[in-house]
Amino acid sequence: MHRKLRICDYRPLMDQLKGASPPGPPVLFPSQGDANYLTLSLLGCIKSIESLCSRFLWNGNITSKAAEKVSWNVVCLPRSEGGLGLRNLSIWNKTLSLKLVWLLHTRSPQAEQLHIILCSVQPPSLSSVRDCYNWYVDDLYLDSFNTARTWESVRDRSSTVDWESVVWFGGHVPRHAFHMWVTHLDSLPTISRIAAWDHNVENSCLLCNAPDENRDHLFLRCRFSERLWKMIIRRLGYQPFLFHTWTSLIEWLRMKDYTCPQTLHKLAAHAVIYHLWLERNNHLHNAVFSSTDRIFKNIDRHIRNTILARRGRKKFHSLMCTGLRFS
Ligand SMILES: [Zn+2]
Repeated sequence: MHRKLRICDYRPLMDQLKGASPPGPPVLFPSQGDANYLTLSLLGCIKSIESLCSRFLWNGNITSKAAEKVSWNVVCLPRSEGGLGLRNLSIWNKTLSLKLVWLLHTRSPQAEQLHIILCSVQPPSLSSVRDCYNWYVDDLYLDSFNTARTWESVRDRSSTVDWESVVWFGGHVPRHAFHMWVTHLDSLPTISRIAAWDHNVENSCLLCNAPDENRDHLFLRCRFSERLWKMIIRRLGYQPFLFHTWTSLIEWLRMKDYTCPQTLHKLAAHAVIYHLWLERNNHLHNAVFSSTDRIFKNIDRHIRNTILARRGRKKFHSLMCTGLRFS
């Protein structure tokens, strides 16, 4: 009745996902009869699919091994709890399996089929009392199965974070926001982190040669970064000032004032963090160096293009005036 799904059972599906077999209707487990699908453990198949998703997320392709910066469990948390909001397939499978149990009792055609199979199993005890079925989620009685409530009940949970709106604000640039998310979790492979695993690596900043290239130094306290921040802060209409800790940057991004809209703060900060990391990687991998003036111009142009591309939105229409005022 029950066994683990073998690799050969789900290989046609994996081949289709990898593009190794011609496109067409999904072919699942062609060697099995329909009824047997219900009793197979899908764990191995789901893990393989999640591995492909992880590779695509971190590498942009599914051929090379994923260099995960954030664990898949965290990635699958909702944004409000610090994740990316992707769905954990194992738990989603569990949720829908529970729906199957509900369907068993409400007699859909699929449930009839499952019922026939399960009825061939010897029950643990015989009782003359008529069965009745109720569906409870977290002690709450429901008239019928509710997938959303069940998912919320069985999924992994974490504490709600207070920085969600700093990273995932309305109108964010996806590439910049994703990078900001990884940076906020302090999961970038800075020299400081690499040196903790490999003691032969010299832990010095790739932008200014100062010791200890960690997140806060690289993006906030590095001489190179400080010059760029001063230019950006002035561009936003403030007297230049600097951030000395990551916490102070996040607090500034959550703060409202009359000088500059909060959305522009966030667009600019995301762009600075993203371009500083690009510059640092260009030093490391390509031995290519850019001046702060050049990076500032790139960021400035990028912010203008972002605002113009979103000018149809109410919030960004007002940003058109503010964003272009200081040029
Ligand atoms: Zn530095």
